[in-house]
Order: sequence, then C-alpha cells, then structure tokens
Amino acid sequence: MEQRSGKVYLVGAGPGDPELITVRGLRCLREADVVIYDRLVNEALLDEAPPWAECVFAGKMPGTCVLSQAEINALMIERARAGQIVVRLKGGDPFVFGRGGEEALALAAAGVPFEIVPGVTSAIGVPAWAGIPVTHRGLSGAFAVVTAHRAGSDDLHWDALARIDTLVVLMGVGRLPDIVATLLRHGRSPHTPVAIIERGTFPDERVITGTLSDIVERAVQAGVRPPATIVIGETVRLRERLRAPGSLSACEPVDDAPFACYT
Ligand code: SAH
Repeated sequence: MEQRSGKVYLVGAGPGDPELITVRGLRCLREADVVIYDRLVNEALLDEAPPWAECVFAGKMPGTCVLSQAEINALMIERARAGQIVVRLKGGDPFVFGRGGEEALALAAAGVPFEIVPGVTSAIGVPAWAGIPVTHRGLSGAFAVVTAHRAGSDDLHWDALARIDTLVVLMGVGRLPDIVATLLRHGRSPHTPVAIIERGTFPDERVITGTLSDIVERAVQAGVRPPATIVIGETVRLRERLRAPGSLSACEPVDDAPFACYT
C-alpha cells in the first residue's frame, strides 16, 4: 500500500458548542491519526476522531502547560514526518490569541506540509450566540479585539481603543477593574453597556450585563470565572431583543437597570 504523506492541520474548534466547528475542521478530525488539543477545546469533539487516533492534551492553562510550546511543535513535526495526519485542535480560531501563528511558523521552518482551518472565534461567535452583534448599523461601525494582559500599559493604544464602538476583550476576567478604569480614564462614558459572557455557547453559559460604572461590582457578585468574553459598547443593549427566545433561565432586572444579570 502506498505510504500516506503526513500533514498538520491547524484547526479552529470554535468557542465551545461542538457544532460550531467548520465542516472542513470536522473532516480533518475524522481523518486524524493524532489530535493535539488545548484546554478550551470541547472534549466532545474528540469523539469525532477515529477510535484508533491518539489524543494528546496540550494544556495551555496559564502557568500549568502540560506540554511546552516547543514540545507541541516538536510533536507535530515528528508525527507529520512519520507520515501521520496531525490535527492541532485549538479553541476558537487558531490565529486569534492562540499562538497558532507561531505554530504555523515552526511547521513552515521545518518544511512540514500544513494547512490552516479557520474557526469561529469566541471574540465574535460568543457575543453572537448571546444575542450581541459586534457591529450594527447606527450603533457600531467598528470593533476591536484585545487581550487584557496589557490593559493600562503603553504598548496598546488605549486612548484609541476607548473610542472604538465595540471592544471585545479576551482573557480579561482577572483584569476587569484595570480595563474599566483605563477606558474611563480615556473618556469612555460610564453609561457604556458591558456584557461578560462566561463559558459562551456551553450549556452552562452565563451572561452578566451592566455598565462601565457597575460591571466590576456585578462581576464580583456573580463570581465570574474564565473563560469569559467581555463586550463593551452600545450593541450590548440589542441582546434584550436578539437573544434566543426561551434561552434564559432567569430574567430578573437588577435594580432598575434595563438589562441586568441573566444566567
Ligand atoms: N483562539 C481563541 C482565543 C484564545 S484566548 C478564539 O479565537 O476564540 C482564550 C480566551 O478566549 C479566553 O480567555 C476567553 O476570553 C475567550 N474564550 C474562549 N472560549 C470561550 C467561551 N466558550 N466563552 C467565553 N469566552 C471564551
């Protein structure tokens, strides 16, 4: 039989719900000899790999990576060179804050054939699932996706970011007070609506809403935990009308705010 040539597919798994992987991503998964997956990937997707496929957990939890980035790169290269189909399964889209670009560069440098299979990024898909468009005519003509790691530091232009209609913040739970303070300092209105979507698209998704003036308090009250996507801007108000009917288990306005804390 002809020897199969190896290849690496850098596949975006989508934000959580297993049906949010692309058709192409699913096809790659079904042909995989080895799947190397990150912590934020829904493990239900691993059932799509052939029963003989080896599934390797790469970790990627801050501070507690099971495999280092160098080990992940080495494993992908070694298996592809051995003729295997390698699926590198990453949360959301592989090129949005996922070090997918670095992994692709390592594969290119090693001369290993690879392909990028884009995914539904949590930056857009998680708000959409929760009924929040990132753009909307008349409300938001631009959006930016940032990571909170650098909130308050000078390497991101927070003065400019504070003026972008919709700001989507990833990896921001621990830095929420910093982000809010930075945006207010740069002149964003304290009435700006904010939504925090925890475990978006999973069955236990929670959405906490408020404004820049009270979201920190509400997040503490709700005990928000990562992974969560934070959306800041007027389109958050559309959730009232756009969320899936019947998707809420509780719909109690907190105080007299028009939008509040839903689970
Ligand atoms: N490449 C990924 C992002 C990796 S950074 C993508 O395109 O989605 C990881 C961050 O993504 C998390 O800290 C969180 O901010 C966000 N995130 C990932 N999955 C999420 C989910 N199910 N719900 C809410 N936010 C999520």
